[in-house]
Amino acid sequence: MTSASWDAIFVGAGITSLACAAMLVKRDPGMRVLMIDKHIVVGGYASTFSRPKQQAVFDCSLHKLSGMNEGGNLIRILRDLDLVDALELVYPQDYFCAYQGKQALPLANDAERVERQLTERFAHQAEGIATFFEQVRSYGRNGYYQFQMLDGSFEPDMAQLRYAHRNLKHKTVHQGLHELFDDPYLIEILAAPGIYVGGYCEDLGYLYYLHVVYATLNRGNAYVRGSSQHLSNLLAQRIEQAGGQILLSTRVQAVLTDGDKVSGVRTDAGTFHAPRVFINASPHYALQHLFEPGLKLAPTREKLRALKPARSTTTVYLVTDAAPEQLGLIHSESMLFADDPAAAAPARMRAEREGHDAALCEEAFWGLSPIEVTNYHALDPDAGKVVCINVLDSIAHWPQRRTADYRAKKKRAAQVLVERLLRHVPGLRGHILHTEVATPHTYVRFTNNTEGSGYGAMVGTDLKGHVFHHGFPIEGVQFLSAWVAGPSYEAAFGYAEMKARQWRRA
Ligand SMILES: Cc1cc2nc3c(=O)[nH]c(=O)nc-3n(C[C@H](O)[C@H](O)[C@H](O)COP(=O)(O)OP(=O)(O)OC[C@H]3O[C@@H](n4cnc5c(N)ncnc54)[C@H](O)[C@@H]3O)c2cc1C
Repeated sequence: MTSASWDAIFVGAGITSLACAAMLVKRDPGMRVLMIDKHIVVGGYASTFSRPKQQAVFDCSLHKLSGMNEGGNLIRILRDLDLVDALELVYPQDYFCAYQGKQALPLANDAERVERQLTERFAHQAEGIATFFEQVRSYGRNGYYQFQMLDGSFEPDMAQLRYAHRNLKHKTVHQGLHELFDDPYLIEILAAPGIYVGGYCEDLGYLYYLHVVYATLNRGNAYVRGSSQHLSNLLAQRIEQAGGQILLSTRVQAVLTDGDKVSGVRTDAGTFHAPRVFINASPHYALQHLFEPGLKLAPTREKLRALKPARSTTTVYLVTDAAPEQLGLIHSESMLFADDPAAAAPARMRAEREGHDAALCEEAFWGLSPIEVTNYHALDPDAGKVVCINVLDSIAHWPQRRTADYRAKKKRAAQVLVERLLRHVPGLRGHILHTEVATPHTYVRFTNNTEGSGYGAMVGTDLKGHVFHHGFPIEGVQFLSAWVAGPSYEAAFGYAEMKARQWRRA
């Protein structure tokens, strides 16, 4: 294999790489692609791990695929890849159930119904709610069809684009929502979909976030029975059936160049040659570890300084002794909000201002911020009686792995987050058989993503870092990941499609 020359090499077999390689070999079955990943399974975050003793399979990321109804980008791409029949899709009833104190507010999986539900519950904010959903339908929709806008197949209303550029682009979600509402709980509920793309309300750009709401709510969402690993495995199978090869448990050590052109990669398992190398790993990691010294990469490094990682996640995986639905966790997804929703954003900002003081961070991120809970058993009972708690977090207040402080902190994270869940769903108390925690360090260890980001780059109001790869000085190197595509499976498939089309034109 080492002496052969490949048409393209993919550094990392995450979902963006798999999608792009599957599209390339479908179109041109003779194409020779080689994918190399350091992990033991394909998929990057789109993978699972098992605990056979607990009869549990944990999904590392997926709880919602966006764009899965008619008109959605992802369902169209999955159909083009002939994958829909092989994927058993589950369309949940709820978008999520919002919990605060003793109150549960299940939000339907339908934009119009959510608008009505919120208008009923927050009648004093009715005008703002109508404006908000109109913004999602217009500016959110324009953002959603950005790739089609580029290829001319979607014609936006130019007046809307101008308005958004002038009035919305420079606002954060915090600013955008505070201009429409003064009810802090409503603001927290509406800001919660930001969790799907790794950002709190003070982090994300408002215009970008409107498109996230449009993608996940207006264009439908679904889960894949068999989990994200099933999706990744299917893509891998397509690639291998067409003659592509996937090398697992193999670390890429360096990207090789010949003058100003890429020539291949050096790995633990030898050297491989190709005129094109797609980098699925984090660009910060790649520039620091994969390119030989002496290359003219200073301008790219400078641009990359402006590309901030999205938030990382702390995840608590649980196994219960009975179906979670029977224990009171009836919805497939829940968002748990603190009693004082207005306190979360100022607490996070204070914790960061004060140098990521550990106690302040724990209170701000784990105690006050919304937490997302997925009842995987309700989506796919075959994976076991599995519940997963996610909270966006920062690696900055986590001690090094393998230290007593780190172990103690993991324990505290589990205690705080599980206790919050038990307050809202008391029926789970006494029924948790197994608990384990993934921290931002776990995410770095398994994926090499900078600062444990689960969602590539943060899409804030300043987008100058996002063009770091424009004019990259080594011909044949391309970046292909959530760091350039944007967070989410749907963005990964959309970007992969664009890259595969560009290859055709090249
Ligand atoms: C907790 C969590 C929940 C999420 N939930 C959802 C969701 O419900 N819906 C949704 O749409 N999105 C979700 N996301 C986001 C989504 O999972 C990611 O955006 C997406 O999976 C990122 O894919 P990627 O192609 O950028 O690659 P990654 O998954 O980052 O994979 C990169 C790959 O590169 C490999 N690699 C790195 N360095 C090397 C090297 N030197 N040599 C060889 N291989 C290397 C790694 O092993 C890895 O496999 C979630 C993310 C997280 C963390």
